[in-house]
Amino acid sequence: MCGAETELQAGYDVRHVTGLDEHTRINLCGAVRDAAARADVRDAVANVYHALAEQVELRRPICVTSGRCCRFDEFGHRLFVTTMELAAFSAVGGFANDMAAINGGCPFQRDKLCTVHAIRPFGCRIFFCDETSTDWQRRLYATFHAELKRLHERLKVPYFYVEWREALRALSATQTSL
Ligand code: SF4
Repeated sequence: MCGAETELQAGYDVRHVTGLDEHTRINLCGAVRDAAARADVRDAVANVYHALAEQVELRRPICVTSGRCCRFDEFGHRLFVTTMELAAFSAVGGFANDMAAINGGCPFQRDKLCTVHAIRPFGCRIFFCDETSTDWQRRLYATFHAELKRLHERLKVPYFYVEWREALRALSATQTSL
């Protein structure tokens, strides 16, 4: 596992991020590759995303498409993802992107919009900069992240919890895809 989970935040995490060491990178890439090939893993992630969407819809947060949420350095937060999310993302071609574009924000953002909206990670689905959302986001994040973690155990998928851009760098470098 990468990163303690005692400070889970609503959708995105603000803790300092350190790079992945070589051993972790290799293990992460192998776990993502193996999980991406499994329909049960992909279905489980899709079910979590569906259940989350229902909960978010009930709360009707406001999004003004400022795009700031995906410009991590500017906003001062970080997006963390799990092995199974990365597997679901990679299974539909999520890493076929120019990783050179990774800098202060997510490389999948274009003109303030997400170019991978349908397959975006869990944290992206729950985070809204609408300040009225803060409390429920934190609660929902903890609930659904716990469910994702349980699914790793149930489906015997090695559990990693890594910063998004570090994961993209690792996976694109080893051609884990797609
Ligand atoms: S995947 Fe999409 S929503 Fe998530 S950080 Fe990147 S651009 Fe933003």
